[in-house]
Amino acid sequence: MEKGFPIMNRICTPYIWANTRLCTACGKCIAACPEHVIGKVEFLWHRHIIIQHAENCIGCKKCIRTCPRGVFSETMSNRQAK
Ligand code: SF4
Ligand code: SF4
Repeated sequence: MEKGFPIMNRICTPYIWANTRLCTACGKCIAACPEHVIGKVEFLWHRHIIIQHAENCIGCKKCIRTCPRGVFSETMSNRQAK
């Protein structure tokens, strides 16, 4: 089983993190992200987003503004950097 960072890397970038349990897989954030950071898991009853390319995230927060379910939040380090 994977430990620590590899799993975290699927739900966060340096700027945002995702509570995938709230996700309904509507796809709005995937369309809104300009850097193609976000992908979708569709496997039986597992239907939610994953972070596919965390390294591409520019912290624009379009995912936070777009998601109707409040899945995304800024990371602590991003908040402290302001
Ligand atoms: S902050 Fe911007 S670049 Fe990063 S995942 Fe969200 S929409 Fe994509
Ligand atoms: S916009 Fe929100 S609910 Fe819709 S796929 Fe993205 S994270 Fe899931």
